[in-house]
Amino acid sequence: MSIDYVTVKQEDLTQMLHSESFRKRLNTVALGTVRTGLEYGFGVYRDLEDGTINYTKVIRGKTDQINLRGAPELARLRNACDNGRMHLLLDLHFHPDEYGFPIPSDEDLEELEESIYGLNDRPILTVGQVDRRGRGQLLHLQRRITGDQLGLNAPLMIDLYDRLCEADSALTMMDVVNAIEIPGFAACDYSTFEMTRAKSPCMLDRVPDWEKFAYEARADRHRLGGYP
Ligand SMILES: [Zn+2]
Repeated sequence: MSIDYVTVKQEDLTQMLHSESFRKRLNTVALGTVRTGLEYGFGVYRDLEDGTINYTKVIRGKTDQINLRGAPELARLRNACDNGRMHLLLDLHFHPDEYGFPIPSDEDLEELEESIYGLNDRPILTVGQVDRRGRGQLLHLQRRITGDQLGLNAPLMIDLYDRLCEADSALTMMDVVNAIEIPGFAACDYSTFEMTRAKSPCMLDRVPDWEKFAYEARADRHRLGGYP
């Protein structure tokens, strides 16, 4: 059966963020990064037919990078995406730096572009950071323009890369969001949480405005041929 539309509602994203599965993994990756100085992360995939959420295992990266899609155990999910049965909802990883804000690197953005399975997919790139006291923040970024409009918006894509560099000088997370966000092209917001030392789910503090990230699009399974 083919799916005609991809629908991601505000409540879908709220439910995901509050779920125990998400908060447990969030706590595990935050703790892993704090303890080792390595990047940890996981991915969230959604079944297009029944909306079921699938989480990948927690993946360990290096000090300055992580490959969230290359892990062999994710082959099943990648195939499901290629077959149009699932789509990537969100990719999350932590940066080890204890200071400063969680700002996606150019490489993060490039990887996100490469992970777009269908012309109309709009996966969310989430970068996390946590301090030694366990106070954490997540920056969520999503490209709102889909594949068929992308060629026309190449200048905006370059603008987005420039904005990521400029965000380094921001003073608050809200400044980071304002520096990165490009209305109609790149949605951005942040959330905060409290890490726990035990293996229990972390506590959410600030929740992002998920309405900015909601969308409905025609499900089109043609892979993007890379970004120009
Ligand atoms: Zn990164």
